Amino acid sequence: SRFFTLSRYPEGRPERELFQLETQTLPDLAPGDVRIRNHWLSVDPYMRGRMTGLHTYVPPFELGKPMEGGAVGEVIASRDERLKEGDLVGHMGGWRDIAQISSEGVQVLPDFGVAEQAYLGVLGMPGMTAWTGLNRIANCQPGDNVLVSAASGAVGSLAVQLAKAKGCHVVGIAGAANKLAWLESLHIEPVSYRDRNAQELGDAIQLASPKGIDVVFENVGGTCLEAALSQLNEGARIAVCGMIDSYNAKTPVPGPSNLAQLVVRKARMQGFIVADHWQHYPDFLKEVAPQVVAGKLDYKETVKEGLENTPDAFLALFDGGNTGKMLVKLN
Ligand code: NDP
Repeated sequence: SRFFTLSRYPEGRPERELFQLETQTLPDLAPGDVRIRNHWLSVDPYMRGRMTGLHTYVPPFELGKPMEGGAVGEVIASRDERLKEGDLVGHMGGWRDIAQISSEGVQVLPDFGVAEQAYLGVLGMPGMTAWTGLNRIANCQPGDNVLVSAASGAVGSLAVQLAKAKGCHVVGIAGAANKLAWLESLHIEPVSYRDRNAQELGDAIQLASPKGIDVVFENVGGTCLEAALSQLNEGARIAVCGMIDSYNAKTPVPGPSNLAQLVVRKARMQGFIVADHWQHYPDFLKEVAPQVVAGKLDYKETVKEGLENTPDAFLALFDGGNTGKMLVKLN
């Protein structure tokens, strides 16, 4: 089996050299363990938080030990009668080609007739995050004016479409022109954050949503959050999903200068972690999977090929190198 380890906790943007590809011979399967040939690996922004040596809501990666992450693959050997050879499964033994792990937490993929990697994206954790933030945290209602940052990413692109499907007016913030064009094709008002300060971005949001903003789905923080706060309507709800703008910061980042807008607009800002809502995953699947199958929800994938390119796929998340879900495909 080949797997990645982290040799040191990075400061700032992780250097490629910190990720080491290692090889091991797998021992015989112990009772309760399963061996999986991974087909697809997920790389996600939250993994940066596991590279800090601090325990947040997930423990840090252990230096020199196999890294972890979402993956889907095929069972090739099993000592758990619940799982048999050939089963397609989702699990956390990513960053490696063959995973030999405890069967606890290994789930047979549901069969909605979609590609297996969809369970790492639109029908997996990122999709569930969009659905949870919009519905359970921001209480998004038909007619709301909704603003989503990192709107062409895995989470954001589903958040904008779910809001649109509810009958909301939706503004999506993204970087590159092709991402803005995709948003526009989905009938989302596209706004670029590039080369704009918070004031200018706020003005652009106002143009795109003249009636203000009732719901913010915040993925970025920084300038995006400050601009969002400047456009709030009374009683606005801000679901704080992530703040990717600061994940590689070496020093504490300044807060938004206009946080007092929460008082003036009597707004509510609430962070959340999708794992805490996992008991609702079946409800999410029931609602969203049929829309994916019917082609009513558009989702994109950016695919890097080969295990050795996993660190580059991960690092590209911080440069906007992905449209939709960033994935690694194994041969
Ligand atoms: P994405 O697919 O959205 O990839 C990251 C995107 O963020 C990039 O493509 C880039 O798009 C944008 N981005 C990166 N750096 C910056 C920056 N400095 N300023 C503005 N935009 C930036 O990732 P995910 O969909 O997986 O995650 C989106 C957010 O959701 C992250 O903050 C993540 O941490 C959070 N998250 C939170 C969860 C929770 O439980 N709370 C669960 C899952 C994700 P562009 O080209 O537009 O710049």
